[in-house]
Amino acid sequence: MGYDALFFNGSDDSHLIATALAQERVILTRDTQIMRRRVVTSGRLRAILITGDKPEQQVRQVIDSLNLDCQLRPFTICLECNQALLERSKQQVKDRVPPYVFQTQNQYMECPSCHRIYWRGTHWQAMSKKLEKFMKSPAG
Ligand SMILES: [Zn+2]
Repeated sequence: MGYDALFFNGSDDSHLIATALAQERVILTRDTQIMRRRVVTSGRLRAILITGDKPEQQVRQVIDSLNLDCQLRPFTICLECNQALLERSKQQVKDRVPPYVFQTQNQYMECPSCHRIYWRGTHWQAMSKKLEKFMKSPAG
């Protein structure tokens, strides 16, 4: 969706909260303990308790809670590194993508950090359809 996001897989909640405060992030969590912390209840740090079990419900909840625009900048950030992707010409990626992809795709993006190449393949199309669905259908 093009939103800067960090995945936190540590068990140290204090570190999570310090990072969120320092980088002005919103915490998305299923941990009710975090929601009870003073820094959250006082409104100093925004946190959203994710309630759905299915990924679609969870994304829907985040979109609604934060008033996100799904079509703002889809597919502009590396899924692995959180870095803004850079446009690349077909020639620039010639030897770095599978031959079939090179023959059929004209638009490419590269992550400046991990150098992964992205193109509008089947995964991209499937994600686009999902995002469109989130935009059109009401919650539930
Ligand atoms: Zn990357």
